[in-house]
Amino acid sequence: MNRYKLILLISVILATGFLATSIVSYQVSRLSIHDSIVNSTLPLTSDNIYSEIQKDLVRPIFVSSMMASDTFLRDWIIDGEADIGKISKYLQEVQTSYGAFVSFLVSEKTANYYYGEGLLKQVSPEEERDAWYYRVRELKYPYEINVDRDMAHADVLTIFINYRVLDYAGEYLGAVGVGLAVNSVQKLIIHYQKKFKRNVYFVNDQGEVQLSGNPIQPLGSNIMEGSVLQKLFQRAKANGTETFEYEYDGTQQLINIRYIPELKWFLFVEQSESEATSDIRHALYINVLLCLVVTAIVVLLTHIALRRYQAELETMATTDTLTGLPNRKAFDIVIDIFLNESARTRGALAVIVLDIDHFKSINDRLGHFGGDHVLVVTAKTIRAGTRAADFICRWGGEEFLIVIKDCDEHSAMLLAEKIRSAIENELIAYKGEQINITASLGVAVARTGEKIEHVLDRADVAMYAAKMAGRNQVNLSRFDG
Ligand code: GH3
Ligand code: MG
Ligand code: MG
Repeated sequence: MNRYKLILLISVILATGFLATSIVSYQVSRLSIHDSIVNSTLPLTSDNIYSEIQKDLVRPIFVSSMMASDTFLRDWIIDGEADIGKISKYLQEVQTSYGAFVSFLVSEKTANYYYGEGLLKQVSPEEERDAWYYRVRELKYPYEINVDRDMAHADVLTIFINYRVLDYAGEYLGAVGVGLAVNSVQKLIIHYQKKFKRNVYFVNDQGEVQLSGNPIQPLGSNIMEGSVLQKLFQRAKANGTETFEYEYDGTQQLINIRYIPELKWFLFVEQSESEATSDIRHALYINVLLCLVVTAIVVLLTHIALRRYQAELETMATTDTLTGLPNRKAFDIVIDIFLNESARTRGALAVIVLDIDHFKSINDRLGHFGGDHVLVVTAKTIRAGTRAADFICRWGGEEFLIVIKDCDEHSAMLLAEKIRSAIENELIAYKGEQINITASLGVAVARTGEKIEHVLDRADVAMYAAKMAGRNQVNLSRFDG
């Protein structure tokens, strides 16, 4: 019972120790991954995308600026916009040679909107989708970037560079410029999405998703409808760039929101913490498994060692070191088994108590070690005279006890006599001396229901009677009730 308690304690200590170490190191790694996502990964991705966008915009801005200062274009307007074929050819040329998606010109005088295929329409201050033109007209700086749907190209979402055109005296002539299809930025987003396993999307001021490579926030959805993001978005709008954490679908999401002034959009870069930490979580599971295996092995080894040690202790405790015979403690253990067996088989249990005669004088003659030697020899003689099934133990100093199963008085007496005679005839040699010893034996056979203490008592009394009768003899105890 104590052994199991000890093993339980060891396994609890080991398992708790291992688990605590694994969990603490997992938590530390998780926190450091979390910090690196929040402090570097997300802001860096956002920076990269932003600089890619700026790079993409430099060329169209340059082309638009060139168009705005082109003498042909300005002369054509000043000269009364006579040949539409010429301007459309010009716009077409710009479009193809600079790889722009669209190119356009709006004249202030005629309100005509020209594009590569000629005259598209006339702009009007009443038309909501022409509002950009009236905004550009009042612009304090040379151009603006506007993200809008292109009417000339089936309303494709386009990034327009709207450049102001001035005559040679600095008077406003109209607006010119090129546009890029937003899907080139979209490609970039999808690329980032794949490469870095991050969700990237753009949201306008109203919270409408403008560009997205992200299935959670698809194109056309509005983040204002999700209560968590809405709050974060309001904060980001107030502060410019922000990094947040929020929960989505039971997983921790880390998000960086950044305002892109050129597009007037907000760039969202988002990463799931659970996904980023999946590797170390995997490592944690392996660690825990290893902990359990190691704990199990240690516990098993401890169990085996303890069992062996205990078995050794038990043998040591139940064996007489001098003669190698079982001792009195062993008798206490074995006798119960014997009694149960004899109760089952109804065979009688016989007990022989043997005491060496005048052992004191043997000790006096041979010395204490000589006496020990006599005891060892006597033990061997008794063992040799009995069967393996008979139990022999050293009962005390120079007293031995023999227990025989299924044995009646007659057989017990025969055995006792055989042992007595063997001892008497054994010539014991010690340090050049040769001596003979004798022993007195008391025999008792247990009656039905008789207690073992009583049987032993009777055998003892019988042995003393043998002593009284002159020693070197066997005496049978008759049951006295
Ligand atoms: P008797 O039994 O014939 O009446 O005489 P005895 O001399 O044998 O008497 P008793 O039983 O009183 O003496 C036993 C002696 O055995 C006493 C003790 O010193 C000695 N003895 C007990 N154990 C050991 C032992 O392990 N080694 C040795 N050498 N002597 C022992
Ligand atoms: Mg004695
Ligand atoms: Mg004696």
